[in-house]
Amino acid sequence: MPSKDLVVGNLVARTGEKKTGVVEFTVADQPYSLEVFLINGQKDGPTLVITGGIHAAEYASVAAALEVGQKLTPEELCGSVIIVPVVNQRGFRLRSIYINPMDGLNLNRVFPGKADGTASEQIANWVMQNVIKQANYYIDLHGGDLVEALIPFTIFLKTGKPEVDRASIELARTFGIPYLVRSEGMGSTFSAAALAGIPAILTESGGQGIWRRDQVELHIDGIHRVMHQYGMMPGAVPAPVESTVLENFIWMRSDEQGFWYPMIEVGAKVHKGQNLGLIKNTWGKVLQDVVCQGEGEVLFLVSSLAINKGDPLLAYGV
Ligand SMILES: [Zn+2]
Repeated sequence: MPSKDLVVGNLVARTGEKKTGVVEFTVADQPYSLEVFLINGQKDGPTLVITGGIHAAEYASVAAALEVGQKLTPEELCGSVIIVPVVNQRGFRLRSIYINPMDGLNLNRVFPGKADGTASEQIANWVMQNVIKQANYYIDLHGGDLVEALIPFTIFLKTGKPEVDRASIELARTFGIPYLVRSEGMGSTFSAAALAGIPAILTESGGQGIWRRDQVELHIDGIHRVMHQYGMMPGAVPAPVESTVLENFIWMRSDEQGFWYPMIEVGAKVHKGQNLGLIKNTWGKVLQDVVCQGEGEVLFLVSSLAINKGDPLLAYGV
C-alpha cells in the first residue's frame, strides 16, 4: 500500500503514526497556535476531521475531542483522523462566551473565512483550508455555551446537492443523537464544509459550563459510531437510532437590554401564543413579553439573568 502522509501545518504523521503538537501561524499580525492530533492509520480509509472549542466554553465538546485525541491509536485505525480540540484558543483561556476575544466575532458565523479578513476570519480560513478541506467526513463538536441549557441535537445543512445532503444526513443519523435539525447555519463550520462538498454535521451536547460524563460520552460514542459505520474501526456497524428531523430552527432574541426571566424549561413543548419569558428592567417593569410565534420543542434556553439587546433567548425546533 502506498504510504500517505497526514499533514497539518508543519506537523506530519506518516502511515501508521500518531503525531501531536502545536501548529503556529499568523493571524491579524499576531502569532496564533493550535494544538493538533494527527492519527494516520496503518490501513487505508477515509479521513475524519473533528473540531472542538469553536465556542470556547462548550466544555463537553472540548473534553470529548481531547479524550478521543488522547486515546486513539493508528494500530486500530483504517484511514486518518485529524482533531483540533480548541479552535478558539484565546477564548478558551478567557472563558469567553460566543466570541473570539481577538475581534469580538463569533467564529461560527465567519466560515469559510477570509485570508485578509479580521482575526476570526483568518482563523476560519486557515482551519478551512488546512484542516476541514482534508475531510471525507467532518464533525464539529458543540454544546450549550456558559449561559445556555440545551437538549442534545445534531445540525446539518441542506445544500441542494443531493449527494452531499444524503451523506450529511446519513452522518447525522449515524452519530446517534435522536434530534436532527436541518439548518441554514450560514457562516458556520458545517455549512461551509457542506458547501465545499464535504458531508458535515455540528453536534450539541452539554452546556452551562457543565461537562458531565454522559454529556461527554454522547459526543465520544457518536464519533465511535461514525468510525465503525465508515469502516475506520474494527467492529460491527452500529444499530440505527430512531431520529426525528426538525426542518425549522426558530431563534428568539431580546429586543432590549435587561434581566431575563424564562417561564419554560429547556426541552419544553411550546405553542403559538404561549408566554416564554419576560425581559424586565431594574425596577421590575416588563420591557419585552416573549411570546411564541409557532410550536415546537425548546432545544436551547439562555439561563443568564443578564441579557443584552439582540442576544439569543432560546430556540425551538419544528
Ligand atoms: Zn457552539
